[in-house]
Amino acid sequence: MNFNKCSRCGCFFMNSSSVCPNCAPKDELEMNRLKNFIEENSSENYTIDAIISSTGISAKNLNRFLEQKQFANFATQIQNENMTRT
Ligand SMILES: [Zn+2]
Repeated sequence: MNFNKCSRCGCFFMNSSSVCPNCAPKDELEMNRLKNFIEENSSENYTIDAIISSTGISAKNLNRFLEQKQFANFATQIQNENMTRT
């Protein structure tokens, strides 16, 4: 059995996900908020700051979500958007 450390609360738990069973619903909720943000906004609003202020997701959790496969395209768009601005 492998112990994992929860990415949200830091407690230890036994399965292969990145958050503990207590935090899984919160993760789920925030990922849905992120999906809604993606649907409701066009790519010029895809900045880390805009996402954080409209979804309330912390920078740490946001970065973790963006590493997931389902948000891979979105993460690329954020990078492109931020590159054209600076
Ligand atoms: Zn947790």
